[in-house]
Amino acid sequence: MKTVKTQNHLVDSFQRTVNYLRVSVTDRCNLRCRYCMTSHTRWLPKGAILTLEEIERLVAIGVELGITKVRLTGGEPLCRKGIVDLIARLSRLEGLQDLTLTTNGTLLTQKAEALKAAGLRRINISLDTMDAAGFYQITGLNLLDTVWQGITQAAAVGFNPIKINCVVMRGSNEDQIVPLAQLTRRQPFHVRFIEYMPIGVDTLSAQDRFVSMAEVQQRLEQLGPLVPLPSQNGDGPARRFRFEDAPGEVGFIGSMSEHFCSRCNRLRLTADGHLRPCLLADDQVAVMGALRGGAGDEEIAALFARALAMKRGEHRLSFGGDCRLRTQMTDIGG
Ligand code: SAM
Ligand code: SF4
Repeated sequence: MKTVKTQNHLVDSFQRTVNYLRVSVTDRCNLRCRYCMTSHTRWLPKGAILTLEEIERLVAIGVELGITKVRLTGGEPLCRKGIVDLIARLSRLEGLQDLTLTTNGTLLTQKAEALKAAGLRRINISLDTMDAAGFYQITGLNLLDTVWQGITQAAAVGFNPIKINCVVMRGSNEDQIVPLAQLTRRQPFHVRFIEYMPIGVDTLSAQDRFVSMAEVQQRLEQLGPLVPLPSQNGDGPARRFRFEDAPGEVGFIGSMSEHFCSRCNRLRLTADGHLRPCLLADDQVAVMGALRGGAGDEEIAALFARALAMKRGEHRLSFGGDCRLRTQMTDIGG
């Protein structure tokens, strides 16, 4: 991975420069988080997902066009066979400045060291609760200790900062907002609270579960002053704060109540080979057919341009509204 500045050819019709590609390397997962999977969630057949070579080629073309940051996600990316090797290969791409991964943490104890050695720069770990029974209730498995060991191991091998993602749901883990935020007063973790999004679920019942970031922030302000942090390159959509004297920080990502579409710099690549201009809209451009049909790099680059041209000014997803997402989260990659 070299920090050579490439010219960016990915500017959309709203003059937003796109330099960030999020790649779902698998739709499969070893957890069953209730906000992510539904009884309708089905795995794609193995032949229908991109091979690691296909992912590498698409990322390389994206980097030629101006992508400088890639996040691997899923499904659970650490469940994908060959993930460490893929990271090693991507990390050698000239022009790719940042290679990161979002994981549920269940396989980190075994894999953290190899991921670091392969060239992974940073890691986000999803953890919605510090309570074992709550963890089971949300994810369907009794693996809180395993995830915690994974977080500890990731820190031990030198991932810094460790970012922890927490999706807040009313009546489920709202009692965990404070304990998770308190972690940042003891350890240099960056805890990100995320608004629950109605993806692949019944939008009406989802509305009852929604907790706004304004409410989460208000609850944390009861603990003491939150000092705003200046935004930095790579912050993405989070509004960041620190408790006075805390080694870590908290962030708020309000995808539903605080749209950050005007600053969107992302494209997504789904596990089954579609480029998606937005997480929260069903628009997509198929690349699998072209890839497997022998298309040259220019033809594939034209598909990137088509996806870019489809980027909307703002997403229209709402609770109970007429706009619903048909695609499931595990396929798109959150
Ligand atoms: N399996 C990995 C994990 O859980 O971190 C990566 C994939 S997961 C789909 C990526 C992120 O999306 C996670 O932080 C997860 O909490 C978040 N996510 C999943 N469903 C969501 C929803 N309905 N609303 C908000 N965030 C969601
Ligand atoms: Fe799996 Fe991540 Fe979805 Fe949970 S949020 S079911 S860990 S993909």
